[in-house]
Amino acid sequence: MLPASIPKTTLAKLAKLGIHNRFDLVLHLPLRYEDETQLQHIAELTPGMSAQVEGEIIHSEIVYRPRRTLMCQMQDDSGVLHLRFLHFYPSQQKQLAVGKKIRALGEARMGYFGMEMVHPKCRVTGEDTPLKQALTPIYPTTAGLPQATLSKQIQSALNELELPDTLPPILLDRLKLPGFADSVKLLHNPPPEIAEEALAERTHPAWLRVKFDELLAQQLFMRLHYRKRRSRTAPRLPAHGHYTQQLLQALPFKLTQAQQKTLQEISHNLDQPHPMQRLLQGDVGSGKTVVAALAALQDMENGYQVALMSPTEILAEQHYLKLSAWLIPLGIMPVWLSGSLKKKDKQAAGARIAQGETQLAIGTHALFQEQVEFQKLGLIIVDEQHKFGVQQRLALRSKGDEPHQLMMSATPIPRTLAMSYYADLDVSVIDELPPGRTPVITKLIHDARREEVFVRVRDTCLAGQQAYWVCPLIDESETLELQTVIETHQALRAAFPELNVGLVHGKLDSAEKARVMAAFQAGEIQLLVATTVIEVGVDVPNASMMVIEHAERMGLAQLHQLRGRVGRGVAHSACVLLFQQPLSELARARLKIIYENTDGFEIAQHDLRLRGPGELLGTHQSGVPMLRFADVSEDVALLNGARAVADEMLRDFPEAAQAHLQRWMANRHDYLHV
Ligand code: ADP
Ligand code: MG
Repeated sequence: MLPASIPKTTLAKLAKLGIHNRFDLVLHLPLRYEDETQLQHIAELTPGMSAQVEGEIIHSEIVYRPRRTLMCQMQDDSGVLHLRFLHFYPSQQKQLAVGKKIRALGEARMGYFGMEMVHPKCRVTGEDTPLKQALTPIYPTTAGLPQATLSKQIQSALNELELPDTLPPILLDRLKLPGFADSVKLLHNPPPEIAEEALAERTHPAWLRVKFDELLAQQLFMRLHYRKRRSRTAPRLPAHGHYTQQLLQALPFKLTQAQQKTLQEISHNLDQPHPMQRLLQGDVGSGKTVVAALAALQDMENGYQVALMSPTEILAEQHYLKLSAWLIPLGIMPVWLSGSLKKKDKQAAGARIAQGETQLAIGTHALFQEQVEFQKLGLIIVDEQHKFGVQQRLALRSKGDEPHQLMMSATPIPRTLAMSYYADLDVSVIDELPPGRTPVITKLIHDARREEVFVRVRDTCLAGQQAYWVCPLIDESETLELQTVIETHQALRAAFPELNVGLVHGKLDSAEKARVMAAFQAGEIQLLVATTVIEVGVDVPNASMMVIEHAERMGLAQLHQLRGRVGRGVAHSACVLLFQQPLSELARARLKIIYENTDGFEIAQHDLRLRGPGELLGTHQSGVPMLRFADVSEDVALLNGARAVADEMLRDFPEAAQAHLQRWMANRHDYLHV
């Protein structure tokens, strides 16, 4: 708990920063440090340099053009520096009156009148005010909570709290890491002689220790989760083969090595008396669906039901069609359930599921609405798992006693991320594409040259192939900026009178959506204008060209997913990324990456560097625990170390492991509880 002496308003602000107790204060580590230990001569300042200078104010006035600004000049023995303030209080103006001796800390830059600092931190000094002895920590804070208040609370927590080490000495020794208490104290109060760069770059041993502890807590947590799951029982579903063999024989292709390997892993898991929780990863087009179908069949061979859940209706519908084609010949009639079904049909579907008349239910999250009761659910398959939140997955789990779970992800997850955030799951990776695919050629084309793209689209379609034309999502607030799909559809229809141009977007009703997709699948529609609703899962091998409008607005994962819709057949495929200027730096970086890379794992690795794990995993909705200090793309060695140590601690030092978890996880309600 925080001391009762802290005023309520301050408590509220601390809570905003995630600080609820004194240990949180200890872990509220500086964002950066300011160096007030030295003085620079004004004449020695160079643009971009962060420095502290001392001198006398020789000029101070408020100018009103171009906007109200406080302009001062300060002078030392070596020269004159201009100080500019766009926001200031009368008190500050007084502080900076002519004749005052001050110290200014800031970044020097070349201004119109010469060297200047904008909004430097200023303090009035006396004849011989001593310089600071150490770097000044700057903390992340929130409006109305001054650094000084924060700093005072942190210092008192550091003084009063006992911070015994949670790592046994023998491990600490081997890892060559400094003690925990020493590390946090050092980070809050860096000694004068410290290497500043190691602090700034967080490579100092004290930083390493904190990051290691954080990663260790995460690993311990995940391992415990894993063990807990292993201690629960689930029905054993051994492979009998009477369904799976039939499907394998009927398929027009042979499974790839990678598909076989992952299938074996899943099959083995299903035969265990514990609930499986396996993540099936594979790049877009790697053939996850058939693996999932075979897993489903193994479940059905044992008389259990399967629920297959997809994030969008279009995708669910595709699965329904594909699996129906595969399974109806085996005498299995899947049931379709989505939110948009008429009430009567929904009830009928629900009844068939409840009475065990169907072994396979396919649909959207409507599948886990409360009314739906499964008779005997053995396996849940979640496609595109990252599109679902934890709550939705949990709701589904409660549908059976202890169903096995297979989660599929088409957003490849870099290895380090998987090790860290999915450490409680078993992971299978399909790391090979089916043979006979031709690589997709990616082109970046400025929107001004879209006419040329028209010609290529027409040629492609007239040659008997099909094409997608993807527009960004319709968003009311951006209607003026974005070309809506509807306009684009009209324009393309006018441009290609000889083609059948279809339109699909999220706001169409589902019957219409299904009709359009079926017509595209059947080749009746040659050019499909679509929003990103087709981003996941859509599989039409005859489509060999994709044009993406406003590609500069889309994320890497999305672009990669979209591009994966083509290159599924034997024809040479192309993906044209239309972009408009000006390009932000991020957009430029993304387009370069998508242009240069085709491997989903590599793209994901770049994405991790660009955006960090939170965005990549969509954690805002999924509730995956976030790391505050460690960085899974940089701290790989620490992560590996933490993994090894987690196992060792649970085995040899269970009490220390408990203490460590207690310290780090006590208020982490955001942790994954699946
Ligand atoms: P994703 O992993 O993106 O979900 P899909 O399961 O939709 O990929 O498979 C993509 C396409 O590849 C489908 O048309 C599927 O039938 C086909 N496919 C899957 N496995 C193989 C294989 N071993 N050989 C040839 N084609 C395959
Ligand atoms: Mg898929």
